[in-house]
Amino acid sequence: MSMPMPIHRITSLANPHIKAMRALHNRKHRRQSRLVLAEGVRIIHEAIDLGWQPQKLAFLDGRQGDPHIAGLIDATHAAGGEVLAVTPAVLAKISRKTNPQAAVACFAEKWQDLNEVLDEAAKGGDGAGTGKLWVALDRVRDPGNLGTIMRTLDAVAGEGIILIGDCVDAYSVESVRASMGACFNTRLVACSEAEFIASIKTWGGRVIGTSLTARHDYRLADFTPPLIVLMGNEQSGLTPALANAASSLAYIPMAGRSDSLNVAVATALMLYQYGHRQNPPPKECA
Ligand code: SAM
Repeated sequence: MSMPMPIHRITSLANPHIKAMRALHNRKHRRQSRLVLAEGVRIIHEAIDLGWQPQKLAFLDGRQGDPHIAGLIDATHAAGGEVLAVTPAVLAKISRKTNPQAAVACFAEKWQDLNEVLDEAAKGGDGAGTGKLWVALDRVRDPGNLGTIMRTLDAVAGEGIILIGDCVDAYSVESVRASMGACFNTRLVACSEAEFIASIKTWGGRVIGTSLTARHDYRLADFTPPLIVLMGNEQSGLTPALANAASSLAYIPMAGRSDSLNVAVATALMLYQYGHRQNPPPKECA
């Protein structure tokens, strides 16, 4: 007869498992541990469905009978992770919220290799027509912007994000929250500017850079995949080297007094322009 898998009951805020999960809010500790904190039953389920393996699961004690939580417990045990039944105060401590979700989990972060993903995209992705749209971000600094871009890329079934240079932590609690869990369906690559430029030189796809001073309207750009949409830093835009390396540069018209759009908004316009080309709207009016 197999032994039942353990569920640890934790009420102490000072328990080492709890301190380790809470420490994922701290930038230095998160980067060292390379763990991602996921909050909420739906998001944790989605991550598991996508093949992520929970290393720790903390859930509200008493909810073991809820089939959704029971599924998370089984998946965590199957992955060899720790299952912790905790009090509301402990959950609030981990998530630093007064109204925390009923479950939080942590997963090992995942990164892809730049040349491997570019090769795959050039060959037509996974063969099912996916994997051909990437976003590259030059030194994007705001976790809300990065999370919003992940969420938007997911909405158009894009593949992933290439983080060029000194970008914000893609797996920080703030980025993950802003992505609403889309980070688990977004492949991530980190590289230097020199590596990115060297790799796209010989790549078979196109790279549309975006710039306020471009001469071509983004609605006229060639969005044929495989494609990388290249976006600039919130303060200074694309570096000249990246702008030069792009296959083409596009601007988004600005009719009012503001000189630029927020980078996540500009990315959304570019991605939906791609989305419309791939999947034109229905002809009939509502
Ligand atoms: N002062 C910066 C500049 O000169 O580029 C503004 C950067 S803007 C806030 C951040 C990024 O969003 C830009 O680098 C570009 O990728 C994109 N972006 C924002 N508005 C845009 C527009 N109207 N046309 C093209 N790209 C735009």
